[in-house]
Amino acid sequence: MFSKILIANRGEIACRVIDSCRRMGVATVAVYSDADRGARHVAMADQAVHLGGPAPSDSYLRGDAIIEAAKKTGAQAIHPGYGFLSENPDFVDAVEAAGLVFIGPSAKAIRAMGLKDAAKALMEDAGVPVVPGYHGANQDPAYLADQASRIGYPVLIKAVAGGGGKGMRRVDDPKDFADALASAQSEAKNAFGNEAVLIEKYVLQPRHIEVQVFGDGHRAVYLFERDCSLQRRHQKVIEEAPAPGMTDEIRKVMGAAAVRAAEAIGYKGAGTIEFIVDGANGLRADGFWFMEMNTRLQVEHPVTEAITGVDLVEWQLRVASGEPLPARQEDLHINGHAFEARLYAEDVPAGFLPATGRLSHLKFPDGARIETGVRQGDTISPWYDPMIAKVVTHGPTRAIALRGLEAALVDTEVAGSVTNLDFLIALTRHEGFRKGEVDTGLIGRDLDSLISSSEAESATRALAVIGLAGLANPEARGGATLWQPLRRAIAWDGGEAVLEVLGPGAARVTLDGGTHDIRWQGDRWWVDDALRRNRIVTHDTGVSVFGGRTVHLTPLDPLARDISAAGGDALTRSPMPGLVKSVHVEAGQQVKIGDRLAVLEAMKMEHSLTAARDGVVAEVLAKAGDQVEAGAPLIRLEEEEA
Ligand code: ADP
Ligand code: ADP
Ligand code: MG
Repeated sequence: MFSKILIANRGEIACRVIDSCRRMGVATVAVYSDADRGARHVAMADQAVHLGGPAPSDSYLRGDAIIEAAKKTGAQAIHPGYGFLSENPDFVDAVEAAGLVFIGPSAKAIRAMGLKDAAKALMEDAGVPVVPGYHGANQDPAYLADQASRIGYPVLIKAVAGGGGKGMRRVDDPKDFADALASAQSEAKNAFGNEAVLIEKYVLQPRHIEVQVFGDGHRAVYLFERDCSLQRRHQKVIEEAPAPGMTDEIRKVMGAAAVRAAEAIGYKGAGTIEFIVDGANGLRADGFWFMEMNTRLQVEHPVTEAITGVDLVEWQLRVASGEPLPARQEDLHINGHAFEARLYAEDVPAGFLPATGRLSHLKFPDGARIETGVRQGDTISPWYDPMIAKVVTHGPTRAIALRGLEAALVDTEVAGSVTNLDFLIALTRHEGFRKGEVDTGLIGRDLDSLISSSEAESATRALAVIGLAGLANPEARGGATLWQPLRRAIAWDGGEAVLEVLGPGAARVTLDGGTHDIRWQGDRWWVDDALRRNRIVTHDTGVSVFGGRTVHLTPLDPLARDISAAGGDALTRSPMPGLVKSVHVEAGQQVKIGDRLAVLEAMKMEHSLTAARDGVVAEVLAKAGDQVEAGAPLIRLEEEEA
């Protein structure tokens, strides 16, 4: 076994790898950018080496600097985590040329799976079922259109170099094919520098089921499947293992296909074979097709660990250090069911826009496995994936594990940034999901109700008003009514309410044109005579109410109000560093609240920036193609009459 390794990553996955290293007695070296000087992964590691500026290209993508850091600190191996350099075969070559061990597959195996068309051809030869379609070299538009018709609509155009759901277009009608092809090609060219595409049959009612494999370079075993069908814009939101409705027979057939795929490329280490599955008539042994292989540890690997009892990072280190596969296929068994939810700093009602902020309050629940790279007081910066944590639960049955996930999310507390927490809670309560009826279209179909059922109602805001009035603090509460005025106005940034103290443990709050009677006893709250599972938390940026539907109120800051009056909602700024893809308005144009002003490409996704109010565009300060910093002014509306 190695005595010291370097982790070429940040955030939760760097912390996750360090956890296993500690248990195994392996010393760790972290690397960090300027933005991550005080980050959790740096604090956890035995040593840390500074790489450079906050942009990934100046830090976590600097293979040469990372190899130098490993040599200088005496690390014998490099763990790449996921993302960044994890699937870069040139980095693997450089690591090995420096006499170090790359904890992962060979450069050759990564190259074999790097392009989707070549990977599909390889898998076909290995006898792994692939999605019917065309993955040849001819890129002539007329030829591709002809292939699409042969395959039969609907079809999916995919960038061969694609990833993260980019360069993908579903086409339902032959007359839309040419346009969809052109836009997929241009997106692919932009994102991957490679405009080649393949055409696939679009699987109706698709489910994403992937198989975890593990190889030693010759032989491989499978650690069963994960269902990742809960996706939004082809990105995973909640994952589970095993897959609902999976039978032993189909599991064996899929597992064997995944092992064939891994052995065909001499795979070493942890990898995932992603299959698309036709869920229209239940799972079938002939109804799954290879999509791609991810040649790294996957974000959602903890659900597999939960049901198998295997520490996949420990296995990675053992196999990379030359040990044989730690288990035979017949030693591996499924125990119970597990879920993982990805908790992100993002603005759900604004279209899942990535958010940033200092986490002024952060509390995770007991009874769940939490993978996180942040602590209370840390900042979600605009530079990296805005993930706050992965919340993982395990139980003897699917129903119990899912109830555990719901409870864990309800007990999670994050303030200082908006999050997708309430959206995740609404998902755990979705009827179809509860029944295990999942497909990749579920979130999209029910998006409106998932968002609105996670929107806080006035009753929750009334509780926050109690917090703002200082009545939620247990010490203050007893005598508070003695010296608090009986009736007063409480204002916060964005609203106000009238509070009447009715007696010890009772108050009435009028807001949004309605009235709520609140009673309390210790930490128990009743709103309009209904007991609520809410917690009221005061922290240094305001008051938050947690417990299903989150509300944050920020006390009124007269200074801040002046600033917002001086153009807060008149100016649309870039919420993060990114590329302006398109601008949809011009000076003098009348816009309505919610109208799309511009599209920003950042963090793997395109984001629509919308008008914060009705108004007239005064100035357009950016144009398509501009690279902008976080906070850069993009569109200014004319000032409103006071
Ligand atoms: P996985 O397939 O392991 O579940 P995803 O499909 O979510 O991972 O993401 C694919 C890759 O993109 C991963 O390597 C991950 O690190 C990276 N990634 C995910 N989200 C972001 C993001 N917001 N910004 C940059 N990279 C990301
Ligand atoms: P990426 O490299 O961007 O992850 P994938 O090929 O893995 O690309 O596809 C991403 C997602 O797109 C899948 O998880 C699935 O939801 C959807 N998808 C891919 N191929 C098909 C298909 N042939 N039919 C229907 N949906 C598909
Ligand atoms: Mg994929």
